Amino acid sequence: MQIYRIRINHNLCTGCNVCVVSCPINFNKLKKEGKLTDKNAVILVKNGIAISVYDDERKVNCDGCGVCIEACPQDAIELEIIEVE
Ligand code: SF4
Ligand code: SF4
Repeated sequence: MQIYRIRINHNLCTGCNVCVVSCPINFNKLKKEGKLTDKNAVILVKNGIAISVYDDERKVNCDGCGVCIEACPQDAIELEIIEVE
């Protein structure tokens, strides 16, 4: 099975949080669960830098929509497709 994962260039990322608030999956989780954590978000800013929260045990991961890539003012995000079982 193929799934999407975002990759963030930490040399470019300024930790502005735009990607986190632009992501529709994050938005739905925030609406339902009231806060974003590394258990429910797919992208988060931690220690001043954006991180992709990916875990192949999770049911919800990035769906590859590309909204965060368009939104990032630093062009710091790329999408990759990875194979999982
Ligand atoms: S939008 Fe871009 S620069 Fe801002 S936190 Fe996300 S990856 Fe970093
Ligand atoms: S590609 Fe879409 S689903 Fe994935 S982290 Fe970016 S905005 Fe969220």
